[in-house]
Amino acid sequence: MGKPTGFKEFDRKKVPWRLPVVRLNDYNEVYTDPEEAQLRQQGARCMDCGIPFCQSVTGCPIDNLIPEWNDMVYQGRWRDAIDRLHKTNNFPEFTGRVCPAPCEGACVLGITNPPVTIKNIENAIVDRAFSEGWIKPATPAARTGKKVAIIGGGPAGLAAADQLNLVGHTVTVYERSDRVGGLLMYGIPNMKLDKNVVERRLQLMRDGGVTFVTGADVGRNVDAKKLYEENDAVLLSTGATKPRDLPIPGRQLKGVHFAMEFLAAQTKSYLDSSMKDGKYISATGKKVVVIGGGDTGTDCIATSLRHGCTQLVNFELMDRPPEDRADDNPWPQWPRIFRVDYGHEEATEKFGRDPREYCILSKEFIDDGNGNVKGIKAVRVQWTKDASGRMQMSEVPGSESIIEADLVLLAMGFLGPEQYVAEMLGIQTDNRSNYNAVHGEFTTNVKGVFAAGDCRRGQSLVVWAINEGRGAARAIDIYLQGTSVLPAPGVTMGSAASVAVPG
Ligand SMILES: Cc1cc2nc3c(=O)[nH]c(=O)nc-3n(C[C@H](O)[C@H](O)[C@H](O)COP(=O)(O)OP(=O)(O)OC[C@H]3O[C@@H](n4cnc5c(N)ncnc54)[C@H](O)[C@@H]3O)c2cc1C
Ligand code: SF4
Repeated sequence: MGKPTGFKEFDRKKVPWRLPVVRLNDYNEVYTDPEEAQLRQQGARCMDCGIPFCQSVTGCPIDNLIPEWNDMVYQGRWRDAIDRLHKTNNFPEFTGRVCPAPCEGACVLGITNPPVTIKNIENAIVDRAFSEGWIKPATPAARTGKKVAIIGGGPAGLAAADQLNLVGHTVTVYERSDRVGGLLMYGIPNMKLDKNVVERRLQLMRDGGVTFVTGADVGRNVDAKKLYEENDAVLLSTGATKPRDLPIPGRQLKGVHFAMEFLAAQTKSYLDSSMKDGKYISATGKKVVVIGGGDTGTDCIATSLRHGCTQLVNFELMDRPPEDRADDNPWPQWPRIFRVDYGHEEATEKFGRDPREYCILSKEFIDDGNGNVKGIKAVRVQWTKDASGRMQMSEVPGSESIIEADLVLLAMGFLGPEQYVAEMLGIQTDNRSNYNAVHGEFTTNVKGVFAAGDCRRGQSLVVWAINEGRGAARAIDIYLQGTSVLPAPGVTMGSAASVAVPG
């Protein structure tokens, strides 16, 4: 375990972000370099509590061996720590940066004290391993001669590709965008996940034998049936890319965009030309309203601020979450509490107030007379519980107002995968329009076709996409070989493809 008295001696101390006033001027990652002594103290706070809820069903979805590597970091055994970390996580440099860390919500120390800074430690282990040169491409000892096509190059497809390559299958990832990574590349902004970090991992996978084909829109410019016939198995990992719309009067006005139109174009322009090509939706000098919260809403806020918006409001339909856990949200559940993310902090720095407005419902987009949006008619709502305990929303009479806006970004979530690949292959979908496959089995109704990630479970998290990709890889391996040494999600046999090799 960490230091037996560590949790009594040391307080929780997170690795700080760069100051908002500084980071607002660039698109670099918001993080600072951690101090080793501080990380070791945080590792020392881990109590090795016997039943580590941090890696239980309410904690880390990939069952990271958290107490083990906390202890290794405390002891300064960084090399051992990356080996343990890679046993369960193909891409700790992604989760260490962007995971909301349900593990910390389930940390036993968190019952009485602030939890261990697990996510910071995870990130520091993998960043250190990269900087020391410990992480090398892993090529399989032998090839099986079996071919697997993976459709969609987000974290689910990538985790599956990494695992399947490790056991010797010949893997090709087909990605319709011009860059691989899914939402790691064209969703989550550079400030939260530097695209060189994504590219670094992709290069390791290429060097290990995985083939990536970009610009390959399966079902449109690549024949899905042909892919099915030419491969021994196919994995669908196409993500949940259908955005939820807001069909109120004025939706057609210029200046109303889906969040992903804004975020994807921003990153592409940034990567292609440091934004010199102008091929992005600019928030410069505009009054911006972001409708919807979550990570997507926050990323729209942070990006608009960097463009130089002159006003920023974030509409949230729901009530403000409580400061502390509510009675119906006990430990070790994910705490549904009020949080200040990087974009909120930055908006407060720039405009002197948190941009979030709660309990507000958009009724109409207002036309400026030339087909452009100039504002949103909105009304306040209140939430009450009905007799059965379900939350009911009602409008507050007389609370209508108009909020000025010349750029509106819709960040209200996603409604499952687009259907064209599924239709071409005859894949059944469930009542939420996701590809129908059971978690753990990942098989669809079509023999040899599997599904994983957001296209199967609905919009979720990077860590869940990795869980699903790993699980689907095992299911595919069993389908192809009759047995598998790959671990089931959350089980720690076998090893991830990119390993820390002994020096
Ligand atoms: C703006 C935003 C911010 C987010 N921030 C976070 C965060 O901070 N932390 C977190 O944990 N999660 C975050 N998420 C959620 C997380 O990114 C997703 O849950 C995760 O990426 C899902 O992985 P996936 O591989 O299933 O799908 P995706 O990442 O969506 O990848 C699917 C890929 O399939 C490709 N594709 C689709 N159809 C085809 C086709 N027919 N042919 C070829 N390719 C195809 C797509 O182009 C895409 O690249 C965020 C999501 C968004 C939208
Ligand atoms: S992947 Fe997420 S839940 Fe798992 S240890 Fe890392 S931060 Fe925690």
